[in-house]
Amino acid sequence: MPEESLQSYLFRLARANGYGYYALTILISNAAPLRSFKLDDRIKIKELLLEYTDHGAVLSLFDPWAWADTYRGLFDFSRIKLCPKCYHETNVLHASWSFRYHLLCAEHRGYLIDRCSQCNCKFTNESLLSGKCEGCGKKIGEMNFESVDGLLFHELIYQGGRSSSTQEEYLVQLALYTKTLEPYLWLLGDNVAKYWNSRRHSEIPKLAGILNDVILLHMERSRVSDAIVDYLKINTERESISAATIKLNRFLTSGEFEDFTIVFKEELLRRCDELAGIKVPLTWIKKVYGLTEEDLVGANVHRRQRGLAIDCKDLEQVVSRNLAACG
Ligand SMILES: [Zn+2]
Ligand SMILES: [Zn+2]
Repeated sequence: MPEESLQSYLFRLARANGYGYYALTILISNAAPLRSFKLDDRIKIKELLLEYTDHGAVLSLFDPWAWADTYRGLFDFSRIKLCPKCYHETNVLHASWSFRYHLLCAEHRGYLIDRCSQCNCKFTNESLLSGKCEGCGKKIGEMNFESVDGLLFHELIYQGGRSSSTQEEYLVQLALYTKTLEPYLWLLGDNVAKYWNSRRHSEIPKLAGILNDVILLHMERSRVSDAIVDYLKINTERESISAATIKLNRFLTSGEFEDFTIVFKEELLRRCDELAGIKVPLTWIKKVYGLTEEDLVGANVHRRQRGLAIDCKDLEQVVSRNLAACG
């Protein structure tokens, strides 16, 4: 991945020529709206830049807006975040800071910041262009950040960037990896997942903590087992397992989260004694384990208004007997 983003280059170019942000948008609008998500427009903007600067390298600057169609979820379009130390050294915004999942600077061991460390004013395009906070005038390169301590697993995300040879290859890897993490995020708790997904007002150190926990959970099978049981126990008052897993069902049945589905199914069977009181509806067993009514032989079957269900404690023997029967 190239270090500098297109946005950063534009800011530097405007600064060098004495343009403010408004003047910059007018200048670029000769080609296309500066914040357009259309690929055609993004190409036109780069061509215009090439014409002005006669500098071929502008064509390869990383531009998140050009990838928004396919990878919108990977980027933070609504917030500008940066490492003040890196920024101080080079005056450049790194392309990687525009990724949602990049929340800290591994080199300086600090959380990225999206607001002034002195007056809490959020960064805007204008503040980036002037290099100063719009609220209090503090220089961005002199701002403080909260330092990172303890073990952090974000490195796993950054590594993909270092080994990818093209921007697209990196985006594909990042998209695949972060998609794999999605269901594990819910296992940390519905509130945690909702906070992560709320984006706009969330705090970077807190988001980084969540991301760290979810990567760790994904890496350690024994933790997943405990997390599944804890998750189901918390939601057991809903009585039936399909209600308790209401946030997880889309992962378990879509066919796109194979890694999670396999782990979930196996671990649930291993621990279903602990969830004895919870009912497992036949409709859910059909969807998740692919069994039918005839396969329920030997289990204590409850006839409820919403259909048949068995006790969770019987799930293990029902599934394992049928798996054995299938060979
Ligand atoms: Zn840094
Ligand atoms: Zn300020």
